[in-house]
Amino acid sequence: MRILIINCGSSSLKYQFIDMENEFLLAKGLVERIGMDGSVLCQNRSGEKYKIEIPILDHKEAISFVLKALLDEKHGVISDVSEIDAIGHRVVHGGEFYSQSVIVDDTVIQNIKECVKLAPLHNPANLIGIEVCKGLMPSTPMVAVFDTAFHQTMPEESYVYALPYELYTQHSIRKYGFHGTSHKHVSEKAAEMLNKNINDLKIITCHLGNGASITAIKEGKSIDTSMGFTPLEGIPMGTRSGSIDPAIITFMIRELNLSVAEIDDILNKKSGVYGISGISSDFRDIEAADEDENKRAHLALEIFYSKVKKYIGYYAAAMGGVDCIVYTAGLGENSPEVREKTCRDLEFLGVSIDKDKNKVRGQALEVSTVDSKVKVLVIPTNEELMIAKDTQELVMDFKLFKEELEDKIIV
Ligand code: ADP
Repeated sequence: MRILIINCGSSSLKYQFIDMENEFLLAKGLVERIGMDGSVLCQNRSGEKYKIEIPILDHKEAISFVLKALLDEKHGVISDVSEIDAIGHRVVHGGEFYSQSVIVDDTVIQNIKECVKLAPLHNPANLIGIEVCKGLMPSTPMVAVFDTAFHQTMPEESYVYALPYELYTQHSIRKYGFHGTSHKHVSEKAAEMLNKNINDLKIITCHLGNGASITAIKEGKSIDTSMGFTPLEGIPMGTRSGSIDPAIITFMIRELNLSVAEIDDILNKKSGVYGISGISSDFRDIEAADEDENKRAHLALEIFYSKVKKYIGYYAAAMGGVDCIVYTAGLGENSPEVREKTCRDLEFLGVSIDKDKNKVRGQALEVSTVDSKVKVLVIPTNEELMIAKDTQELVMDFKLFKEELEDKIIV
């Protein structure tokens, strides 16, 4: 089965086209600056790059150009759209509707629309992706894979905020959590690497990228996660503040006369390690500045390390122990410094990092010492492949179900 994975952002669209027979990435690409000056599509086929620089007015045009690139005689990978067997869409918010991926139908589209109020920046773009693909390829089955689904197993005491309870019942204000596909994937891989049943493990997964979240996984189920009602809660990120005293917001309104849009902009785009360091949101730049003894870069890193470490302690307490800590995503996979510093002084918990093994970048490896009670693993995440796997499984079940139904009707 050949599956097209679509990840629609507000002004960008990422895609991958995967042959599931051998999990081979046939092509991947990115459309940027949709509806703006300088829009561009870049496709990569086994290292060979293909670029279309042309005004791309909206997501419908963007997806048409994706199909054009995949079909291109010289740079493409298919000769007809019917060679796309299924489409998997990354959808950020499934609210309380979905605890797993689903085949897209009219009810699913309606429910994703219901969740727009919970993810106003992401869900509208995800919906456009679904609707455009439905229009262009009406007979191709589609699956929605939600960032929130894996965390639907959290117990009430993890997801209800200490606010008037009606804000939850009447306005759906609760913790949802994000990066679910990644946390699920790396926790399953961790159990495989340790040769243990996931039901016997207490795992803390640290997805540390531009956006970052940490999850407590007990018996294969998410029981708590650091992101919340939105992807702003939790640890500080590239440009996002993470958790702060909520009264800072009312102070900014009252004393600094800032508007809602200005506060949103500060918390989402001007805070995090970028806000503290004033240098960059990219940890490579901040680590380099720290080496040059830049004080604010040093402070940004120390704040980040300390918050990650506190979540590790917090979740170890929540689960009554921890067997394994997993590092994944851009920073978790590639920064030995971050892994070492966030496990610093955790020997009392039974965590001991092997400095030599920890030099690894971007590969699945155990980086704890042989006698470390808690295993520390680096596991590269692959959200697109997970989306493709869910899509394949659901589409195969759906086809089987349809065939059985047709057989019954004929009988
Ligand atoms: P997202 O998918 O959330 O946009 P990624 O998971 O791709 O983010 O992570 C990107 C971040 O990973 C970069 O901003 C950078 O901070 C960090 N990163 C990537 N490579 C390295 C590296 N070699 N050393 C330190 N940090 C790195």
